[in-house]
Amino acid sequence: STENNEPIKTICPYCGVGCGIKVRPGDMRFMPWADAPVNEGSICIKGGAATEVVEHEDRLTDPLIKEDGEFREASWDEAYSYIVEEMERIHDDYGPDGMGFFSSSKTMNEENYLLQKLARRYGTNQIDNCTRMCHASTVWALRTSLGAGAMTNSMADLEEKADVFWIQGANPGEQHPIANSQYFRQAVLEGATVIQVDPHANKTTRSFDIEGTERHMHLQNEPGTDIPLLNVVIKTILEKHEENPDEGWIDEAFIEERTQGFDHLKETLSDFVKAEAAEQCGVPLEDIERAAEKYAMANNSAIFTGMGMSQHTCGVDNVQNEINLALITGNLGRPGTGVNPLRGQNNVQGACDVGAMPNVLPGYQLVDDDEARESVEDVWGFEIPPEPGLTNVEISHAAGDTVHGLYIMGENPVMSEPDGNRVEERIKDLEFLCVQDIFMTETAKYADVILPATTWAERGGTVTNTDRRVQRMRGAGKVHETTKHDLDILCEVGTRLFGEGFDFDGPEDVFEELRQVCPDYHGMTYDALGETGIHWPCKEPGDEGDSFLYEDGFTTDSGYGQIEGVRHQSPAEVPDEEYPLILTTGRLEEHYNTGTMSRRSPTLKRQHPENFVDIHPNDADRYGIEDGDTVKLRSRRGEIEVKVQVTEAIKEGSIWTTPHFAAASANRLTNDVLDERAKIPEYKAAAAEIEVDIDP
Ligand code: SF4
Repeated sequence: STENNEPIKTICPYCGVGCGIKVRPGDMRFMPWADAPVNEGSICIKGGAATEVVEHEDRLTDPLIKEDGEFREASWDEAYSYIVEEMERIHDDYGPDGMGFFSSSKTMNEENYLLQKLARRYGTNQIDNCTRMCHASTVWALRTSLGAGAMTNSMADLEEKADVFWIQGANPGEQHPIANSQYFRQAVLEGATVIQVDPHANKTTRSFDIEGTERHMHLQNEPGTDIPLLNVVIKTILEKHEENPDEGWIDEAFIEERTQGFDHLKETLSDFVKAEAAEQCGVPLEDIERAAEKYAMANNSAIFTGMGMSQHTCGVDNVQNEINLALITGNLGRPGTGVNPLRGQNNVQGACDVGAMPNVLPGYQLVDDDEARESVEDVWGFEIPPEPGLTNVEISHAAGDTVHGLYIMGENPVMSEPDGNRVEERIKDLEFLCVQDIFMTETAKYADVILPATTWAERGGTVTNTDRRVQRMRGAGKVHETTKHDLDILCEVGTRLFGEGFDFDGPEDVFEELRQVCPDYHGMTYDALGETGIHWPCKEPGDEGDSFLYEDGFTTDSGYGQIEGVRHQSPAEVPDEEYPLILTTGRLEEHYNTGTMSRRSPTLKRQHPENFVDIHPNDADRYGIEDGDTVKLRSRRGEIEVKVQVTEAIKEGSIWTTPHFAAASANRLTNDVLDERAKIPEYKAAAAEIEVDIDP
C-alpha cells in the first residue's frame, strides 16, 4: 500500500520480459522485488535505472496549447475543449477517417483498450500501435499459420525442456537480458545448444561463449538472406529424410495429422540449389547443414524470432519459413518447442491483444467479421465501422492528404518511423495534432496541444509480457498533481465527445469491460491476476492459463498448421554504385527505442551518450577510416554524423547503427517501403554510403 510508504510491486516499463520491480512511494526509488514471478529479483541495467526518469526535471507538468507557433500553458478544461472542438470539426469536414489514432505499446492494456474504443466510437478503425514497426509480420504469419499472434511457449518451459535454441534475427542478450541470462543461458549451462543466425555479432553471441562448452554456433549471414538460409536448412532435412527415413529427420505423423501444405514446400524447394544459396548467405554450406542436423535431431527445438526477421519487405515470409521448419519437424504444441517472437516493449503484446490495431477488435476478432463485430457492438452499444483502417505508417503517409488530425498517446513517430525527414514534413501538414506524453518528444514539438501524462511508476493497470503473462502494475502516486493518468484523460475526452461509454472508475473498471469483449482474457480478474499474473488464453474464471499453445490442435480456421514454401526476395533497396553498402539497424541494451526515457536516464546515458556505426576493418581500410573517426552516413533519404567503431562484428560490405539518438538516428536513413501484407517497414536493409571528409 502507498499509505505506509511500503514499496509497491509493479512491472519494469522497458522490454517485454516483464520483470517485477518495486518502487518506493515518496522518493520514487527503485527496489528489487525478490520473488517476482518472471525474474525473481534479477534485473538488467535498464530495469535498475527505470525510476531515474520519473521525477526528471524535463517532465511535462501542464497542458500546452500552441499559439502563433509558441506553446503556452493552458488549463485542462481549455485543453479538453480545444481537442473536442478540433476533433468534431475534422469529423464534420472530412468524416471519421480524417483522424488517425496512435496507441502505445508502452501504455497499459486498459489505456490501449480505451483509445481503440474511442477511435471506433469516433467512427474509424484508423488506430494502430508500434507493434506495426516491430512484429506486425510475425503476428500476421503466426495468426495465419498457427492461430495466435504470440509466443507459442513460455520462458519457463523453454528453459526446462528445449534442447536447441534457434535464435534468428533476435538479440536477447541485448534486448531481453533477463530472459537471456535467467532462462536461455541457464538452459545452455545445463546442456542445451544455441544456434544464432544474425548478420551482426552481438551480446547474445558473446553471452553463449561459455568456457568449456561448444554449444553455440553463429551463422553470420548477409542482411536479407534469411529465407535462403532457412531453405538450406529445410532442404537438408528433407534430403536426409529421403536417405534415411527411419532416423526421424521430419515428423511424418505430425505433418500428416496436423498440417497442410507440405507438398507446396517440397515443390518450392525442388529446384532449389543449396550451394548457391549458401554462397548468397555468405555462410559455409557445411555450417548450415550442421545446424540443420542439430535442430532436427534434438528432442525439443525452439525457434526465437526478432526484428531481424520481421522488419523486411518479406517479413511475413521470413517468419513463415520458421513456422515451416517447426511444423515439418513436429516442434510445436509441446514444452520446449515452438516459434517464439521476443517482444520489445513491456506491453506490445497487450496493446494488440486489446485491439489497438486497424484490422482487429479486442481478442484479434476481425473488424470485417460481422458476427465478431456484432458481439462487441452488443457490449459497447454503438456501431463499429466494418472496414479495416490504415496502419500507422500508412496513416503517416496520408498525413496532410486524407488524414488531417492525429491523436498520439505515448508514441514518437518522427523518430520511430523510417525515413524520419519525410515523417517530420508530413506531420507539419496536419491541421490538428494532439500528443499525450511525459516529455517533450521530437514529435510533440509539432503538436497543437500537449497533454502531460503520468509515468509508468505513478499509475496502475495491467501489461502483457512476451510470453502472454498478464501482470498488474501498481501506482506509487503522482509526482506532479497537475498531470493526469492516460486512462483519466481518455475517459474525459471520450465523455466530452460522446456523452457516454467512457465513464469508468479507474483501471479495474475498464478491465472488467475489456474482459467481456476479449475472449482470451475473459477468465481474468484483478484478484485472480494477483501477484503472479496469468498467461492467456484464460477463457473462463478459474482457468490457470496456458504456458504453451496448440497441445491439441491449431486455432487456424482449418484447425491445421499451415506450411507454405517461400522463395528469396531481395530487400527493396540493394547496394549500387552510388550507395554501395548495406545499412542494417539494431538496438542497444542500454537504450530504449526513440530514447525519450533512456536518454534522460543518467545511468543509461553514461553507457552510450551518442550514436555510432559499426564498420568492418576491410571497409574501414578502403575508406581510410580509423576507429573513433566521425563520418557522415548517407542514404537516398538523409544523412547523419556518427562515430566509427571498427569491428569484425559486422560483415564486410554492411554497416550497422541504431535509432536511439535524436541528433543522429538511423531512421533518418531507413527505407519506408512496407511488407505488402503486414505493412511493416524494411528497417533492416537499405543502401548507404559513407562520407569521410567532413568538418569535425
Ligand atoms: Fe526490464 Fe526487460 Fe531488463 Fe527485465 S530484462 S529489467 S523487463 S528491461
